[in-house]
Amino acid sequence: MIILMKTGSTQQDIDAVVSLLKERGLGANLSTGSQATVIGVLGDKTKLEGANLELMEGVEKCVPIMHSYKLASREMTPEGRTVNVGGVVIGGKKLVMMAGPCAVESEEQVREAALGVKEAGAQFLRGGAYKPRTSPYAFQGLEDEGYRILRRVGDETGLKVISEIVSHDEIDVACKYCDMLQIGARNMQNFRLLREVGRSGKPVLLKRGVASTIEEWLDAAEYIMSEGNYNVVLCERGVRTFETATRNTLDVSAVPVVRERSCLPILIDPSHAAGKAAYVAPLALAGVAAGADGLIVEVHPNPRTARSDAAQQLTVPAYKELVEKVSAVAAAVGREL
Ligand code: PEP
Ligand code: MN
Repeated sequence: MIILMKTGSTQQDIDAVVSLLKERGLGANLSTGSQATVIGVLGDKTKLEGANLELMEGVEKCVPIMHSYKLASREMTPEGRTVNVGGVVIGGKKLVMMAGPCAVESEEQVREAALGVKEAGAQFLRGGAYKPRTSPYAFQGLEDEGYRILRRVGDETGLKVISEIVSHDEIDVACKYCDMLQIGARNMQNFRLLREVGRSGKPVLLKRGVASTIEEWLDAAEYIMSEGNYNVVLCERGVRTFETATRNTLDVSAVPVVRERSCLPILIDPSHAAGKAAYVAPLALAGVAAGADGLIVEVHPNPRTARSDAAQQLTVPAYKELVEKVSAVAAAVGREL
């Protein structure tokens, strides 16, 4: 449930509501908007029986929330959230572009990709250090050395660094070298990992699980936020359907649905949805047209030699071409690059 305070309610009114919630063993999350304050009630609302909150001074109304997530809900923060990663704001008018290879393979490979995507206008360098692969025999990543390479190249090029963690064992080292942590599709419901990244306080990119509903995805975001880390960005990367022409099916409709139900920014990963380089640009443009806050795209200096996801990685020139097209679509929907 959220409690909407009246425009012009006083600090005393707000404090009285918060004290009552605390007395009943409930948490209170305050969101102070330009018009009015919204108080999110955290915990079992049956503890409020007989409290008659709506009769309290300064209270406009109490709105039940039908879904189980609260902090991630749009009701809680009607104006929406932005996530600031070292000065790069995700969720504002400007789209955020993340790009880089699927996996960190060598320092030279990462540097070449980074210089290319930086020149194209990207703000973030992506690259997998720990690779969650379907087969245990496939390349599993350079692990901690991968994070160190990303950091060195990120510092050289002025790009922020994002990389995936696959288990809580890597959190400390990933936090040391990365500006943002990625939770991959396979770990979207690894609740212990979600809580731990929540406790780390680092900005998190939370990918949608391959067979997860939007509600399950937002519940996963709530796990991170419930630990006090509100720096969560969602990423739609395609879901499993009956279609086999693409690796996954990009759920473009997730963008408007998430914008309606959640206050969190949302990015599109067209690469893992498409599975094929030729489909990446159209899906990316569709995502931006639908209102996504940016893109995360796989770019490799020489995709044919890639040790993972070779078929879907863009060359640097192809990425540059994509960014130009994104710029035109962004302008058409009132956004900018
Ligand atoms: C990735 O981005 O490297 C990745 C493995 O993606 P996903 O978790 O979406 O499959
Ligand atoms: Mn990949």
